[in-house]
Amino acid sequence: MRRKLAAGNWKMNGALSAMAEVQAICDAHPAPGVDLLLCPPATLIWPMASMRGSHPMAVGAQDCHMAAKGAHTGDIAAPMLREAGATHAIVGHSERRADHGETSATVRAKAEAAHAAGMTAVVCIGETLEDREAGRTLDVVGTQIAASAPDGATAANTVVAYEPVWAIGTGKVPTLRQIGEVHAFLRAKLVARLDDEGTGIRLLYGGSVKASNAAEIFAVDDVDGALVGGASLTCADFSPIISAL
Ligand code: 13P
Repeated sequence: MRRKLAAGNWKMNGALSAMAEVQAICDAHPAPGVDLLLCPPATLIWPMASMRGSHPMAVGAQDCHMAAKGAHTGDIAAPMLREAGATHAIVGHSERRADHGETSATVRAKAEAAHAAGMTAVVCIGETLEDREAGRTLDVVGTQIAASAPDGATAANTVVAYEPVWAIGTGKVPTLRQIGEVHAFLRAKLVARLDDEGTGIRLLYGGSVKASNAAEIFAVDDVDGALVGGASLTCADFSPIISAL
C-alpha cells in the first residue's frame, strides 16, 4: 500500500546554520518507518543532500522551470536541481500560483519537466477561502488536479498535496470531515484517470500542520502524509509530526 510521506517545505527560510536541524532530524529518525522529504531553498539543496549522507531522507526543490535549459535568467531547470541532489520538486504551490501567476498549465509543464529529469513532482492544489465559502471547493480542486497533473503521472513520479490556501500559515485547519471529503474526491479523480497508478499516488494534506493536530489528520482516510511549512524548520517541531505518521 501507500507508504506515508512526511514532507517539509522550508519556503524562503533557512541558512547553512540550519543544517544542524537537518542533522538533528536525521539523528532522531535513523531508520524512519515513513518516507521523509525536505525542500529547502535552492541554495541549500546541495548542502542538505551532503549533510544527509546515507540517511534515507530525500531532498527536494520548491519549484523548477519547465524547460531543461535556456535563456531564462534567474530560473533553475529540473536537471540542475537533480544534479544538486534534489530528487523531488514541488510544483504549483499556491504561493507561486499567486506571486508568479502560475496557471495549472504551467504547473503541469513543470511537473513534466521534473519527470523528464527523473524527479518526483509534488503537485500542489487548493481552494481559496472565497472558493470554500462559495461552496466551490470540489469544483476548484477537481479542475486544478485535472489540469495540473500530467498524463504520465505514476505512483512513483507524482505526489499530490492538497493545501487549502486559507489554511497555509494561518493556524486555521479544515475539519477532519472537510479534509476527508477533498481527499476522497481527489482519490476518485486520480483513479478514474490513472487506474492503478491513481490508487498508488500519495495524497498529502498541507496547511498549519503541527505536532498537536498531526495524528488526527493522518488518521483521515486517504491522507498519506503531510506537506509541512513552518513546523518543518526545526527538529523540535518536525520530529513529532514524523512520529505521528
Ligand atoms: P504551513 O505549514 O506553514 O501552514 O505551510 C504549509 C505549506 O504551504 C506547505 O507547503
